[in-house]
Amino acid sequence: MYLYNSLSHKKEKFVPNHPDIVKMYTCGPTVYHFAHIGNLRSYIMEDVLEKYLRYTGYNVKRVMNITDVGHLASDADTGEDKMLKGAKREHKSVMEIAKYYTDAFFSDCAKLNIKRPDVVEPATNCVAEYIHIVETLVDKGFAYLSGGNVYFDTSKLEQYYVFNDHDEEDLAVGVREGVEEDTNKRNKNDFVLWFTKSKFEDQALKWDSPWGVGYPGWHIECSGISMKHLGDDLDLHCGGIDNAFPHHTNEIAQSEAFLGHKWCNYWFHVHHLNTEGGKMSKSKGEFLTVSLLEQKGYDPVVYRFFCLQSHYRRNLVFSYENLDNAVVAYNKLIAKIAALNPGQEPVDPEALEELKARFVKAMDGDLNTSLAITSLYDVLKAKTNDATKLAALDDFDYVLSLGLLEHAAAVRKAQQEAEAAQEKDPEIDALVQARSDAKKAKNFAEADRIRDELKARGIRIIDTPQGTKWSRD
Ligand code: AMP
Ligand code: ZN
Repeated sequence: MYLYNSLSHKKEKFVPNHPDIVKMYTCGPTVYHFAHIGNLRSYIMEDVLEKYLRYTGYNVKRVMNITDVGHLASDADTGEDKMLKGAKREHKSVMEIAKYYTDAFFSDCAKLNIKRPDVVEPATNCVAEYIHIVETLVDKGFAYLSGGNVYFDTSKLEQYYVFNDHDEEDLAVGVREGVEEDTNKRNKNDFVLWFTKSKFEDQALKWDSPWGVGYPGWHIECSGISMKHLGDDLDLHCGGIDNAFPHHTNEIAQSEAFLGHKWCNYWFHVHHLNTEGGKMSKSKGEFLTVSLLEQKGYDPVVYRFFCLQSHYRRNLVFSYENLDNAVVAYNKLIAKIAALNPGQEPVDPEALEELKARFVKAMDGDLNTSLAITSLYDVLKAKTNDATKLAALDDFDYVLSLGLLEHAAAVRKAQQEAEAAQEKDPEIDALVQARSDAKKAKNFAEADRIRDELKARGIRIIDTPQGTKWSRD
């Protein structure tokens, strides 16, 4: 498999360090609010990556953190703690907020057919690991104490900016306008490993440490949790593209300074889902969640389909119009699958391998899910029997997780029920036929008028690939 590696800025053949296992780490959610569907785009694509690695025969151990402490609201280390903000907003304790939104996150994931990682670790569980790393960094001269906090000294590194081709001077301005500068730092990009003094003294969760009572910075948690469960090396680290700087850059800085060798080989970054107005936000505009989509009548799996139609390294624009197009395409696909009839024919192994080869080629080319979706249509058009087509679709859906066969079975069942309920009434039959003729002639106004008339008479019509059926309500 070839994957784009943000570290080398090119597509590389994926070769794990150990032949028997792929060590995969994913930055998990900050559980101060619901995940928006942009966050979930990242988790969907990471889920596809994990499942594809398993599909090709790898044994994968995937670890994810849950950020329940230390994530500040700005890139500078002076912003307000996000968890604390959530707790204040809802008049609850930080731990209550963390539990509520962790459960909500996994419930959203389940609706999107995202598998739960093998290990899910809340950041507050691993404070001893962070303290050990920070102590070692201080001993090795990579960290210093200033104003009560422990900072990582980025000037001690040969190369700090690993992901960006940007001019260092440009990035050194890193601290955004309007954000107060932390005067304890020796260098602009130094970052907090351990806080004992923050502007926010009402921080709820604090632990004893060699530097006083305090709490860990955000970046250290991913290094600590990854090393606790996956050891001193990592094959694959994932996250949204906004995590590349400063979060992942800082993870690499502290992990490699601590270990004294290279830490992670491949960095997989998912580009953003944006709204037509720009960046997706939890506070501005409509807060786009899975629950909101459900309230509006969308099946969450259609959102997954919408995401898979685009490559993960392209920004994707969300609009209801785009989602509606995905609904139409998904329903058509399901209707075609529902029309397949496996009968008594055996699967043709040769034809199946040929179909699989197209899917594998798409996925091997930097996880090209958009081409993989096209390969579903190739299956439907293939010159082979229906049993083989269904076997291929089932096989691909292990990775794509679009519920293809289940949804098709549900459609088939509904059709059979409609047929069983089909009554004989020549007048209604004639009206249904007239509506179909109007639709064929693109006279949609007339088709809608007839539909309304039938509705007024208590007749429900169901369009199926085998024609239009009707039943009385
Ligand atoms: P957070 O809960 O803010 O820590 O973010 C969870 C994950 O969502 C991280 O991997 C982010 O990089 C990712 N993310 C944030 N915004 C977006 C977006 N608009 N599109 C895709 N991924 C995003
Ligand atoms: Zn992380």
